[in-house]
Amino acid sequence: MICRALSSRWDELLALEEGERLCSRGWDLSLLLFFPNFYRVGMANMGFQSIYRLANTVPGVACDRCFLPDPSLQPLLDRGEELVSMELKQTPREFQVLAFSVSFELDLLNVIRLLLWSKVPPLARERGDNEPLVIFGGIVPSANPEPFAPIADVVVVGEGEEALPSLLRVLLEEGETRSPRVFQRLAQVPGVYVPSFYEPRYDAFGRFVSVKVWADTPFPVVWSFWRDFSEEGNTVPLVTSESSFPGAYLVEVSRGCPHLCKFCLSSHVCRPLRVVSRERLLGYLDTLHSRLGFVGTFLSHHPHLVEAVEEAVNKGKSVTFSSLRVDSPLPLLKVVSRESGRVTFGVEAATEVLRERVGKPLPQDLIMERLLYCV
Ligand code: SF4
Repeated sequence: MICRALSSRWDELLALEEGERLCSRGWDLSLLLFFPNFYRVGMANMGFQSIYRLANTVPGVACDRCFLPDPSLQPLLDRGEELVSMELKQTPREFQVLAFSVSFELDLLNVIRLLLWSKVPPLARERGDNEPLVIFGGIVPSANPEPFAPIADVVVVGEGEEALPSLLRVLLEEGETRSPRVFQRLAQVPGVYVPSFYEPRYDAFGRFVSVKVWADTPFPVVWSFWRDFSEEGNTVPLVTSESSFPGAYLVEVSRGCPHLCKFCLSSHVCRPLRVVSRERLLGYLDTLHSRLGFVGTFLSHHPHLVEAVEEAVNKGKSVTFSSLRVDSPLPLLKVVSRESGRVTFGVEAATEVLRERVGKPLPQDLIMERLLYCV
């Protein structure tokens, strides 16, 4: 029995969404895209929304969404009621592919819970031929796919925007998702790691020694990166007041960051640095949405961001931003603090020594100077 309370909750949230709801009702391949955290977090996640849009643009593919249910609904699922997708109202087992977009390490626990609520075996080796194919992607599995290897049939390493369409086309061409031939073909797609073809070996102390690779399998697996990001740009297809960026039409300004702070997965996974072209950035402003959210790593150093923000304000739009570096150019800090009413700095640690250790050596004096500048 599907969880009717969850289905109703999805309907409430769908009613508040504006934009392109893309999931079609006729398909050759059905995919359920999970964000293993709450709806408000997932809908503020550029990567999740980007993959939702991208998968639905592949002809023949229908991509629906599912999030971690509200805490009040989780006991119903623990008691055996079935998880249900947002738009098509199908159970996960009715989809051919389950894809998880993972942005936070601790969400791995939620992945396991979602698989259990989906009634799909969490361990890949226990899945039968009729189970959905389980794919992982996002910053966390890209940075270190091995913790996902026991539960993943496939891991997309790097930026999914490049690898996912090729992966989906293989599944469409084959008309099935779990045969040995399908896995062999998937392993040939750049940016796709099929863990069952690789056997890591460890010494008595648990240290990695070597890896045994099955015949005809690429090694090492190459990372996928989105070559055309600067020209194509990236925006969210859906806007909602229930997002962590409430009501904001999110536009991605840049990917990658030359600072490569030690803790920053995003800068290490999304390489090299790319910024959207001036034309694309100003083109974002033609949206009918009244609130724009400028997001991205190294956002503060886009050469045309100040111009774009001022243009957006002239068009009567309100603006919001992801966090900025303390050493952002002063003209940008001025326009951000004036127009959004607040500035969020990514300082990361309380002392200079700690910041030095995590690879973000921001002087205390500079932080104080910039704070005073913004107030
Ligand atoms: S400056 Fe920010 S975006 Fe760049 S590497 Fe450091 S934390 Fe990441």
